[in-house]
Amino acid sequence: MHSDRAMVSPKATSVANRPRLKYIVAAAQTSTAEKMLQFYPELRGLEIERGAPLIGGYSPAADSLAVATDDPGVLTHELAHAVNLRRSTLYRKLLQLTGALSKINRRVATTSADLVQNLVQDDAKRNDLLNTMSGVSAMLAAPRLMEELNASSSALRWLGDDNAAADKMRSALSAYVRQALGPIAVYQTAKSEFDPARR
Ligand SMILES: [Zn+2]
Repeated sequence: MHSDRAMVSPKATSVANRPRLKYIVAAAQTSTAEKMLQFYPELRGLEIERGAPLIGGYSPAADSLAVATDDPGVLTHELAHAVNLRRSTLYRKLLQLTGALSKINRRVATTSADLVQNLVQDDAKRNDLLNTMSGVSAMLAAPRLMEELNASSSALRWLGDDNAAADKMRSALSAYVRQALGPIAVYQTAKSEFDPARR
């Protein structure tokens, strides 16, 4: 998945088409962001705004990017999302739909597992059901997970030798993976407690 295009292509967009950096906190962000904005035609017309603390990010629904941190890795990662999501409407809709369902799934996983444990008496049937719920959880989480991996690997290439930003991004990514796969752990744990093979 490595890009063989040159990292900076000055002719990619004309000045008039260039996105506007309304809000950039740190100089380190400006240099990488400028390079990306010039390189990707998908970023034309995108405005970067100041985000409220903890609500930074690229919003596909509003097609807006806001950052509230001076970490160059965050802006680079969000710009990579903007590139991917602005490239395809179908892909954007898939991510929005599976993302919304995945969010609901994370909220109800513990309650759902409890219900299955209490209502389905037959061990084999209960394990089958919990396996199916794990499978559906994986399907719902997969598109967003792939998008996060994709945005992070793209950002890591753009960050070059900024190791501090790269380390922060890697740890944010592993936290995201744990969160995304949480429901699967819940369903699998509910299964094994009652799995006769494990007794
Ligand atoms: Zn992300």
